[in-house]
Amino acid sequence: MFDICKIRADFPIFQEEIYGKPLIYLDSGATSQRPRQVVDKMTEYYLRYNSNVHRGVHYLSNICTDANEEARRVVQQFVHAASEKEIVFTRGTTESINLVAYTFGEAFIGEGDEILVTEMEHHANIVPWQMLCERKGAKLKVVPFNEAGELDLAAFERLLTDRVKLVGVAYVSNVLGTVNPVETIIRKAHAVGARVLIDGAQAVQHIAVDVQALDCDFFVFSGHKIYGPTGVGVLYGKEELLEQMPPWQGGGEMIREVRFEKTTYNELPFKFEAGTPDFIGIIGLGEALKYVNAIGLPEIASYEHALLAYAMRQIKEVPGMRIFGEAACKSSVISFAVGDIHHSDMGVLLDKMGIAVRTGQLCAEPVMQHYGVTGMVRASLGMYNTEEEIDILCGGIKRVAKMFGIG
Ligand code: PMP
Repeated sequence: MFDICKIRADFPIFQEEIYGKPLIYLDSGATSQRPRQVVDKMTEYYLRYNSNVHRGVHYLSNICTDANEEARRVVQQFVHAASEKEIVFTRGTTESINLVAYTFGEAFIGEGDEILVTEMEHHANIVPWQMLCERKGAKLKVVPFNEAGELDLAAFERLLTDRVKLVGVAYVSNVLGTVNPVETIIRKAHAVGARVLIDGAQAVQHIAVDVQALDCDFFVFSGHKIYGPTGVGVLYGKEELLEQMPPWQGGGEMIREVRFEKTTYNELPFKFEAGTPDFIGIIGLGEALKYVNAIGLPEIASYEHALLAYAMRQIKEVPGMRIFGEAACKSSVISFAVGDIHHSDMGVLLDKMGIAVRTGQLCAEPVMQHYGVTGMVRASLGMYNTEEEIDILCGGIKRVAKMFGIG
């Protein structure tokens, strides 16, 4: 059962006041809040069990190692990967994509090859590929989207030649909220022999993911957007592919044997985990996923779907409202502008009412260019948001609009 009161009670931050007003947190797309269970678990490990993982023989080290590896199994089950070896812990989505760009790039990308991304990607799914293209003499190509914020699939098919070695696409756009047809994209890319990386940063907290059913080659996400801690993220990669990729960072843990003549590398997934991992963060992420599992992603998805539909209806009532992204399949994010009110004026004035929204380029400058704007205001939802909060947001936006003579 989805019990919103119980869920909100798990998040102590909702007892906080901002300028004497209740916090209306509509910035979960940037980072979610964390439930007490996650912070308690991490505190327990810091205060009672702290000890470095994987290298100790002693009691505490074994406890942390076991908890770290248990979290890996939780992640494996959460995305339904075939093996724990396919789950690499990183610092977040950005690091996961960079890891793939370096190591997959090293093994599989050469001069004249092409990498395909979309016009709606977060910078994290653009810049590492541009850097790779520069290193290798490869070419980055871009699939455009239409006014509604949906990918132009005909253009995708035209761009998808047998030179394309990798397609990088967001499951859910962090600006438009579009849920992209990743199944179709993956199937078509595989038909020309290209691999596919799905940026799941805005998806895993809203949509149940099955990497085997999707058949994606890589899937990446961040802990801090799914009610877990900052500084920890996940790279899922197909085992056969990860095996063929060279390691990225060198150091402790990623080696089997170090000799000055020749060093050999550890097995998966440790080959990609050089140095001391943020094991307490990893344990916290495992706890966050257990928290989400206990509520149930299908339940979360249907609650959020209804909330988003309500929010879209209400927000459209605001005079001068322009919404960016009205895809038929949309999730959790509403980006907008009102008249010619500057996005940061809107953000600052809403903040004074206790309403936290994000403003600016939203780490997606190509999307801003597409619409010819310098920035947007973005309200993004988490499972703890309510219709009352949407009403307060819309009331707040109307007040700001009035101040600027709109409505
Ligand atoms: N991709 C998308 C779609 C995102 O929304 C974000 C975070 N805003 C990222 C990548 C980068 O995530 P992180 O900063 O946690 O590495």
